[in-house]
Amino acid sequence: MTTGTRILVLNAGSSSLKYQLIDMLDGSRAAAGLVERIGEPAGRLAHTPRSGPGREELRFFPDHGAALTAVAAQLAADGLGLDSPELAAIGHRVVHGGRRFTEPTVITDEVLAEIRRLIPVAPLHNPANITGIEVARGLRPDLPQVAVFDTAFHATLPEHAARYAIDRAVADEHRVRRYGFHGTSHRYVSRATARLLGKDPAEVNVIVLHLGNGASASAVAGGVCVETSMGLTPLEGLVMGTRSGDIDPGVVFHLHRVGGLGIDEIDALLNRRSGLLGLCGDNDMREVVRRSQEGDAEARIAFDAYVHRLRKYLGAYYAVLGRVDAVAFTAGVGENSAPVREAACAGLDALGIAVDAELNSVRSDRPRIISPGYARVTVAVVPTDEELEIAQQAFALVHTAVE
Ligand code: ADP
Repeated sequence: MTTGTRILVLNAGSSSLKYQLIDMLDGSRAAAGLVERIGEPAGRLAHTPRSGPGREELRFFPDHGAALTAVAAQLAADGLGLDSPELAAIGHRVVHGGRRFTEPTVITDEVLAEIRRLIPVAPLHNPANITGIEVARGLRPDLPQVAVFDTAFHATLPEHAARYAIDRAVADEHRVRRYGFHGTSHRYVSRATARLLGKDPAEVNVIVLHLGNGASASAVAGGVCVETSMGLTPLEGLVMGTRSGDIDPGVVFHLHRVGGLGIDEIDALLNRRSGLLGLCGDNDMREVVRRSQEGDAEARIAFDAYVHRLRKYLGAYYAVLGRVDAVAFTAGVGENSAPVREAACAGLDALGIAVDAELNSVRSDRPRIISPGYARVTVAVVPTDEELEIAQQAFALVHTAVE
């Protein structure tokens, strides 16, 4: 039985561990931080308490166990140790939940085994997430640990959107279908957008554009996700920082047969050396915009290709939804890049989509409307908060479980 009011949210990457301790009474952060370069000689832990100066540890963190132990010590120094009765649960971001996990789930040995079975469809992400779970369970075996899946919000994709048009038996045998990612963000932002409009999520159709280093779009009809741009893996869809997004699958055969590249090389090329980086040598949108404003032709093409793909998805999802009430921009690029938002929406007045230049140039970390009052579709900037969403889902689950 838990009476705690705080949730520790853990997001374990291959060499990093991000954490936030969230007070569920008001959604505020009791502490937050990040351990980087786990397993490398020059590791770094940066801890930000609610008040007082931030603290840093520069040293070797051999593995995620060492990293989480150091995080626990930092929290304990603030009087917020993992043994605190205030801690209600630990919420883990898990990238791939396959078809089985469509809801936040309390982690048992069996659940962990199933997450492990999904490694072949998420080889870059699920192993790190599993390590985070194992380490946290080791430190607090008695505490509920909840997995919140990036794929879950997309589980409602209708079959015609989730299926690739390939042989059914082959697809089923290898679990090849469109799962979608960034679901926690798409869910949070689509709901926050409804709130911004003063409506219930069930009443509005929203196109969410999550534009971070990874980027994805989703079409959300009455609170239910009906289409999203990422697929079996987070490679499909929009042009991203280092990922190509959509390409003709024939490119892979061509690079292999004619170019002599091995499968792993092509995988690395498309995931890590493509997108904005591949087109112009920079994956940070700030640099791309700066260079293209200075007349750099490669950066200009990269920016235009990024925006062109975005507009294609905007148009496609308009057709999928039939009626669009709002378009929401979120994540690093979506929240901060006025040039991207302006270019994405330019010339779409006939669709009821327009951006007011003055509103678009305002910098704020609050949800805000950037379309003119007359526009049929509300265009909004809605900062995402995946950690708060994970904490809320985990908190709701442990409270339902004890009732
Ligand atoms: P992640 O996908 O790693 O969570 P974020 O959502 O934090 O990424 O987005 C990171 C990206 O946001 C950066 O790579 C950069 O391209 C972009 N970005 C951040 N700040 C700005 C800004 N002021 N203007 C344009 N782009 C920005």
